[in-house]
Amino acid sequence: MMRRIKILMLGIMMFTLNSCTTPVFYRRDIYLSPRETKKQIEKKPAVVVEKSKLSSKRLPETIIRIGVLPDARSVCISSEEKYEVIDIFTSEKISLEKGKVYKVMPQSRGISVGTYLLSSQISFVPLSGDYGIKVNKRRYRDTVVIKKKNNHLIVINELGIEGYVCGIMTQEVSPLWPAESLKAQAVVARTYALKHMGKHRSQGFDLCDTTHCQVFNGIQAEDSRTNQAVYATWGEVLTYQGKIAKTFCHSCCGGHTESESGAWGGAQSSPYLKGVTCRFCKEAPHYKWERRLSLHLIEKTLRNKGYSVGKIKRLVISERNSSGRVKKVKIVHSRSSLELRGSKFRALMGYQVIRSSLFNMRREGEMIKFFGRGWGHGVGFCQWGAKGLSLRGYKYKRILNFYYPHTRLEKWSE
Ligand SMILES: [Zn+2]
Ligand SMILES: [Zn+2]
Repeated sequence: MMRRIKILMLGIMMFTLNSCTTPVFYRRDIYLSPRETKKQIEKKPAVVVEKSKLSSKRLPETIIRIGVLPDARSVCISSEEKYEVIDIFTSEKISLEKGKVYKVMPQSRGISVGTYLLSSQISFVPLSGDYGIKVNKRRYRDTVVIKKKNNHLIVINELGIEGYVCGIMTQEVSPLWPAESLKAQAVVARTYALKHMGKHRSQGFDLCDTTHCQVFNGIQAEDSRTNQAVYATWGEVLTYQGKIAKTFCHSCCGGHTESESGAWGGAQSSPYLKGVTCRFCKEAPHYKWERRLSLHLIEKTLRNKGYSVGKIKRLVISERNSSGRVKKVKIVHSRSSLELRGSKFRALMGYQVIRSSLFNMRREGEMIKFFGRGWGHGVGFCQWGAKGLSLRGYKYKRILNFYYPHTRLEKWSE
């Protein structure tokens, strides 16, 4: 049963979605403005907020299962602290040596851990410290579960939702950003995870660790500043009419966020996903972008993706939606014409090629010049805009209300 504790209701309310069909979470480097080089980040090594501090929670924490290796032939497990492996079927416990690397492999009668043979579901549990469990080269908080399936292994990190959010923050935003923008991002990421719990249920876990869900890299990806933002917003999620909201997010909206239906079709957008004017993301590296593509390359790309097109004669923007984004592109070719949704055209050409569907185009001989604004689908939370708002003194609750109007910020627990 879900228990919600109402914590606030602001006068002004606002925003939400991301990438679900195409979750569009981006690499860390695009979140750096020219003043925030990657070097700056590397100069300040990440410090993990101690687990003991994260554990001083005020509410029971939801456990989330992340598929970190959904199909492995073998894995190496180790830890620098005391830990044990538990056989889930027999409850047998074996203490493992710290510092030693154990090769874990599927066997005909179960799973082997070094020279031990256990049944087909096992769990590695740390007994002390903050080191966690190392799976190949990555360290994870809490428990690592390994299951055997068809002579392969499924490796799952079972951890508290707050520790999970700590492990995704630096994939979304720079730890150098103002604290209020980091707190807003923590709420967005936590809400997104809870909304999509069980997305990979058929594979035995809740979410994967790639852009399909949210990029999660465990303890190494953590930073003391982003961890602090998670801790400061412990358990807080956005809701709409008592349900967890759809907190889509993107890098930079280019001046106006997109409505849910504008991006993905459908008759109606959720009331908190109708799009807002955003004047706060101009500092983003891709606030303005340009790209030239030859007609020949567009033709070849479409054919490679299964579209039967003749020689392309011209491209026409046949429809725009209310935020100014391209709704439909018409491709006139020697045999006929093809009309594609703007989002589909982006997906086909590449999300890093046509960075948003907020673009114009111009013919230059055999080339088409695309010039546009923003990066991402534009729905919901504009990350660079949140940074801009926090620099103007907005607190995270107000930032969230700006991008997701009519939502409420609430404490959530199971
Ligand atoms: Zn996924
Ligand atoms: Zn924006």
